[in-house]
Amino acid sequence: MSVFENAKSNLEKVSGYMKLSDKEMNLLLSHKAVRKAKLRVRGKEYDAWRIVHNDALGPSKGGIRFHPKVSEDEVKSLSFWMSFKTSLAGLPYGGAKGGVKINPKELDQKTLEEVSRAYMKAFHEFMGQDKDIPAPDVYTNAQIMGWMLDEFEKIKGKHEPGFITGKPIELGGSELRADATSKGGKIILDLLMEKLGRKIDETTVAIQGFGNAGMNIAKMLHDEGYDIIAVSDSKGGILNKQGLDIEKAMKTKQEEKTVVKYDDAEQISNEQILELDVDVLVLAALENQITKENAGSVRAGIILELANGPVTSEADDILHEKDVIVVPDILANAGGVVVSYEEWAQNRTGNILSMEYLEKVLQDRMVNAFNRTYDLYKSEESFTMRNAAYVLAAKRILSAERYRGRLD
Ligand code: NAD
Repeated sequence: MSVFENAKSNLEKVSGYMKLSDKEMNLLLSHKAVRKAKLRVRGKEYDAWRIVHNDALGPSKGGIRFHPKVSEDEVKSLSFWMSFKTSLAGLPYGGAKGGVKINPKELDQKTLEEVSRAYMKAFHEFMGQDKDIPAPDVYTNAQIMGWMLDEFEKIKGKHEPGFITGKPIELGGSELRADATSKGGKIILDLLMEKLGRKIDETTVAIQGFGNAGMNIAKMLHDEGYDIIAVSDSKGGILNKQGLDIEKAMKTKQEEKTVVKYDDAEQISNEQILELDVDVLVLAALENQITKENAGSVRAGIILELANGPVTSEADDILHEKDVIVVPDILANAGGVVVSYEEWAQNRTGNILSMEYLEKVLQDRMVNAFNRTYDLYKSEESFTMRNAAYVLAAKRILSAERYRGRLD
């Protein structure tokens, strides 16, 4: 099943409950613009995309991924999930995503900068603070956003920092942005633990993916008293049933470029970490990690999707049968876009928002999205949390479409 077929099926599962018409389904499943370019840098060509899924609620929003496996199908899925995420979070945004099929780990900084600038040269006319607003995603970061902002402003001949978020603080970025996805994910996990009456200091956690999202949440959960016993990155994983020293794991990752070199732990494979006997499994790498092949072997009681699309639709059904609670990506990882929205608002008004204010807004929005999702999930016997999140998100997009006169 393609990634987008899989994404679609999340919506199809609630279409009967929502009594969605063919027109409504078509609207929710179609993309407003699929744009592709070839970036030519230093004699090489790289495929690049910017795809807008929906912009009924406002300008489209979504990150740019640099990865050797980026495809049109993947970017279409990621843009679809962005529309549902911004809708569920109550933001005035639609959804989009971008990608370049490239391995940034093989590039020097100068070439990476040229690729980032080439991306803006290819897509600048479709972007802007009132059109489409990019941000970082897998293997892109604040520095890349800085180069993209510089190229965009050079072309436009004016400053417009609100056109991109996740940029360096000196260029108008938000102090909370780097941590926001993980902070939001932790707020959601804490709320769920409270609902389930679970004790944090008796909870073991495994985290797949030790990048921006995974590393930050590892630190936050560890500081709160959760017991992180395993983490992994693209090279493999580490397990210590007595608990990992997260500061040391972060230092190892920084110095050795992989957690596998951490010395006081057993090495495990990327497959094994998904099947560990833990209370919480945090997925913070890429899509399609839990599939119908390995869902039956999952032993965690809660899965927190910090990554986009890490559990396939078929796997979701198997996990539901096993009473595993999956906290869906469009809720669990919305903290990043919530704080991106504040960064955008700050750039537009010129008001510099304090950390205190940002923390409060993030907390309030995450609690609100969680409560609405959880209440609906509990009120419908057969529902998963994902079903509930999709119903709420789809309703708000369709309502905006209706007010725009695009639906009867
Ligand atoms: P990142 O590039 O900082 O980190 C990705 C990590 O995943 C790296 O440590 C990499 O080694 C690891 N990885 C890759 N393949 C793996 C595999 N097969 N097994 C284990 N680890 C693997 O990216 P990120 O920003 O942390 O994003 C991770 C996920 O979270 C993505 O799905 C992204 O779309 C999603 N997300 C991120 C943000 C954000 O603000 N960073 C916001 C929303 C969603």
